[in-house]
Amino acid sequence: MEEAKLNLISFKKSDVSEIAESLGMEIAKDGAIIVNEKPATCHACGDKLRIDNLGSIMPSSLELYCDDLTCFAKYVAKLTSETTE
Ligand SMILES: [Zn+2]
Repeated sequence: MEEAKLNLISFKKSDVSEIAESLGMEIAKDGAIIVNEKPATCHACGDKLRIDNLGSIMPSSLELYCDDLTCFAKYVAKLTSETTE
């Protein structure tokens, strides 16, 4: 219920490549996620994102977050503030 309320994009690790490609991202051979021909980074901590550490995707702007809990908390806080009018 919580996820539906926040409109999170939730996914399984095994779905990451499919989701990333459906959003126009590319997956490099080493698993790095590429957006606009640049390596994608976590919007909160700046770590380079790979298939195995992608945690969250901001639906409205396609900002990406790693799977660190601190970053996830920032993601949820931002998502909540943007969806609360
Ligand atoms: Zn992060």
